Amino acid sequence: MLAHSNFKTSYLAGKGHSPANLPSMRRCSQPPTTVSKKEDATESPTMKRCKQAKSKAEPNTLGDMEDINFSTEEIPDIRASLLKWYDENQRDLPWRRISKNGDNGGISVEERERKAYAVWVSEVMLQQTRVQTVIDYYNRWMEKWPSIHHLAKADIEEVNELWAGLGYYRRARFLLEGAKMIVEDKTEFPKTVSSLRKVKGIGDYTAGAVASIAFNETVPVVDGNVIRVIARLKAVSSNPKDSKTVKNFWKLAGRLVDPSRPGDFNQALMELGATICTPLGPNCSTCPISHQCHALLLSAKDKSVQVTDYPMKVVKAKQRHDFSAVSVVEIVEGDESQSDSRFLLVKRPDKGLLAGLWEFPSVLLEGEIDLASRRKAIDNFLKQSFGLDIRKSCKIVSREEVGEYVHVFSHIRLKMCIELLILNLKGGKTCMQRMQESATLTWKYVDGDALSSLGLTSGVRKVSTMVEKFKQNRSNFVPAKRRKRQKEKTANEMEC
Ligand code: SF4
Repeated sequence: MLAHSNFKTSYLAGKGHSPANLPSMRRCSQPPTTVSKKEDATESPTMKRCKQAKSKAEPNTLGDMEDINFSTEEIPDIRASLLKWYDENQRDLPWRRISKNGDNGGISVEERERKAYAVWVSEVMLQQTRVQTVIDYYNRWMEKWPSIHHLAKADIEEVNELWAGLGYYRRARFLLEGAKMIVEDKTEFPKTVSSLRKVKGIGDYTAGAVASIAFNETVPVVDGNVIRVIARLKAVSSNPKDSKTVKNFWKLAGRLVDPSRPGDFNQALMELGATICTPLGPNCSTCPISHQCHALLLSAKDKSVQVTDYPMKVVKAKQRHDFSAVSVVEIVEGDESQSDSRFLLVKRPDKGLLAGLWEFPSVLLEGEIDLASRRKAIDNFLKQSFGLDIRKSCKIVSREEVGEYVHVFSHIRLKMCIELLILNLKGGKTCMQRMQESATLTWKYVDGDALSSLGLTSGVRKVSTMVEKFKQNRSNFVPAKRRKRQKEKTANEMEC
């Protein structure tokens, strides 16, 4: 862990603040310095809000984050201000259109479960993905699987296909497995955090969102937005990635949740973080709870402090650099110009990165190695995985380097060296059958059209596009020798 949860020893990363010059929580709660009449006359709205904060906020004590809390005066004020703001400003999002909260009386069990399903799907999609991107995916998903019962009948191939491009495919698999689990149990939709947590793939965050938004359970929801808002409200400079600190954020968020409208309150807090209290450019002048914000108070008192100093910036773990050789294997029956060529796709193992997804044959390399070694690695892979000896059982029509592509995952930077390997299987169908028998991996071969319609990951689609462009450029280019031959042929024909 990078820092401590103790205010005495924590510091603001990236700003060069040391514990000695960091305004401590005690400093935040010190009585306001006397403001002269002159200063008062020119007082900015920010200073006014800060003075309000000083007068309203309960003094924080110097110590561990466990000691920080919202006072009994702060809580009703924050709840009322946030809910009022949310009622007037909430974004119109498709998953919010299903029976608004507060309809407790009239809403049927089916409708509530439909809402729970919608919240579940949207919250899972929204993890690591922007709202604007999610809307399209959500609408397509709901069109295809409008209820949990429809989803439970789907298979992973269809789900991956619809999810293609959203990334973090494990989330899609868990959604499917969770839906199957709930439907197979033949019980009602789990309504509480404790029952939701038993469903595969549902963690604290999703359980809190579904239970509070769909079933009005008074429980908090803590995501990056909530952590940021609370860290600023309370000027918490502890490491937000530290598990103990995160636990305390859950405790603080739990204190704040409004029992009369828990779902709306949680959404309001997240919405504030997403739209006003943003990581780099918070719009404090329009913030409905700025009068309760300690970070704003500190920044007004000390120009070297900014609200964006909270929460503490954590240095990201260094990305791993991986290298792979990717071979786009195209199998043709005659020569390369035949239109009925097929591409070989391999299914990744069921565990690990991009589990169970389709990709072109590829080999993870020890490091950046030369072309000959990459080809050797691919040849071995094809032989071991499919019994395909490209020199004995095939005619190599062509083998060319297409280029390089770097795909960035959250913790890995994968550099792929891509080749296009066009093969003509000498034994034709018999050879295919032999491949089927000796294959140690699941594979299929598909035509070019299927490649563009299949739900392939964005990395595989990128490789496919690169190969497509490469082939187009190559067909536009007629080598000088061939041009000369064509010229001579035309001349001869004319003479005849
Ligand atoms: S927007 Fe500004 S005032 Fe509001 S919580 Fe965030 S930092 Fe504080």
